[in-house]
Amino acid sequence: MAHRIHNFNAGPAAIPLPVLEQIQEELLDYQGSGMSVMEISHRSKPFDRIMEEVVSRFRKLTNLPEEFHVLFVQGGASMQFAMIPLNFCAGRRPVYLDTGTWSTKAVKEAQIQGLDPLVAASSKDRNYSYIPKEYEVPADAAYLHFTSNNTIKGTQWRTFPEADVPLIGDMSSDILSRPFDPRPFGFFYAGAQKNLGPSGVCLAVVREDMLDRCPDTVPTMLRYKTYVEKNSLYNTPPCFGIYVVNLVFKWLDEDIGGLEKMAAINRKKADTLYGAMESSGGFYRPTADVEDRSLMNVTFRLKEEELEAKFVAEALEQGLGGLKGHRSVGGCRASIYNATGQEAIDALVQFMADFARRNG
Ligand code: PMP
Repeated sequence: MAHRIHNFNAGPAAIPLPVLEQIQEELLDYQGSGMSVMEISHRSKPFDRIMEEVVSRFRKLTNLPEEFHVLFVQGGASMQFAMIPLNFCAGRRPVYLDTGTWSTKAVKEAQIQGLDPLVAASSKDRNYSYIPKEYEVPADAAYLHFTSNNTIKGTQWRTFPEADVPLIGDMSSDILSRPFDPRPFGFFYAGAQKNLGPSGVCLAVVREDMLDRCPDTVPTMLRYKTYVEKNSLYNTPPCFGIYVVNLVFKWLDEDIGGLEKMAAINRKKADTLYGAMESSGGFYRPTADVEDRSLMNVTFRLKEEELEAKFVAEALEQGLGGLKGHRSVGGCRASIYNATGQEAIDALVQFMADFARRNG
């Protein structure tokens, strides 16, 4: 039996154990082909089947309307920051809601392209510890871009922003953690390495009517239309990553029972962890405003900064890994994506109480 620890990494992050076991089981001989899934052609029958399954499973999980296409793109979520303005502006001004590092990077890619993006709201004034509530979006904007969950600062949109223009969502760190309504979206996307599978593949979902906005001057591999027309197989896709994403969708659907169930599990996990901090008498202090706290990335500080490195190191000794905050902000962070179960939270909460007792 392999030695596994409780994994609180922010991404790449935990993958459900049954998924890893299935990968292990069929690694040398994928479904009787005599080859690993890494060794078969992306134009073979077995891979065709993986592509069909992964798309139909995502459609089922999200109840995705017909007019949306499900695509797999390389270059991570960061590549999407550039592709979005390239494909969707068509002479109009893009609008962004700035809730942290990743939104800021998305804005920058529109600036580089000379598109003069409008930042309609920002929570920078309080170090991105909340989600802005007031913003106005011009009716002739190209789109409204937002980051549904802020991985580094630990804030999350409880309900999504509303606008009369297509919504574009970077859902990298909370996709499939709860049900959502895809219909207001013109486009949404998520790097796989948090809730979907391994890094190297980015899920991109585009509404049909958005495709015609793309100017002819955009290179082939940077056009969403190319991915739609070729079913994400214009060139060799990240086959292994897509295969794992398919298994993660299967786990979500068959083992967990869909997004309502997943959301209830995630809610309980977050409640347990935030609750433990709130009853710690100030020893552990969550950094985000209560109503905007992320259910995926729980960011917190300790009573004294000097204790934080000790906390992270001792936790790891106890089999609790990945609790160091992002290098840009310090502090601590427990990323509790779909694959990190209640048992990991319970173990963490127990360790936290013990650590506070010994260091309080
Ligand atoms: N958006 C969000 C919300 C993220 O958390 C991350 C990565 N942590 C990114 C974008 C960038 O993703 P990638 O590394 O896949 O480019």
